Amino acid sequence: MLDVSECTRNPGTQYLFHVEQAIAPQEIGGETVTFDPAELSGTFFADEDGNVTVDGSICVWVHAHCANCLAPTSTQVEGEYRETFLREGDPEDDEIFVYSGHVVDLEKLAMSYALLNMPMRILCRADCEGMKQYMVQDDSMDRQKEMPGQHPFAALQQLLDQNLSSDADQD
Ligand SMILES: [Zn+2]
Repeated sequence: MLDVSECTRNPGTQYLFHVEQAIAPQEIGGETVTFDPAELSGTFFADEDGNVTVDGSICVWVHAHCANCLAPTSTQVEGEYRETFLREGDPEDDEIFVYSGHVVDLEKLAMSYALLNMPMRILCRADCEGMKQYMVQDDSMDRQKEMPGQHPFAALQQLLDQNLSSDADQD
C-alpha cells in the first residue's frame, strides 16, 4: 500500500518507497504456487491529473515444485517495473492499474511482476534431471541390449580394446 495523498498534492515530485506486499497463492499449471511477502522498492510520483507512476523493483521468494523431480522447491524472483495507476478507471480491467482514494494497492502489480519474472520451469537445482534422467537411462539400457555396437560406451570400449591389443603387440 502506498499513501499517495502527499504526492498527488505535489505533482512531479519523486517519493521513495519500500514496502512489503503480500501476494495471494496462484494456480499455475495445475499446482498452487505460494509467495513470501514481496519486497517492493523504488520511486513514485503523480502527474497533474492525479495519476501515479510507480517505478521500481520487486524481490520475492516463490514456493512451488521442481518441474523435473517434483520435490518442493523455492526460488527467488526479481524484476523491474514502471506502471501508472490511473485515478479513474475500471478496477476489473486487467490491462490497467487503477487506484482510488489516497492509497495505491500494490498487490496486483506485485503478483503480475512475480509471475512475469518467474522461470517457465522451476527446478530444485540447476542440474536436476529428476525423472527425465531415469527415462534416458532406461532408454539407453534398452538400446544397449538391442544394438550393443551402437552404444557410445561400446565404441569407447572398442577403442580401449584396440589400444590394449596394440600395446600387447609392441611388447
Ligand atoms: Zn528436482
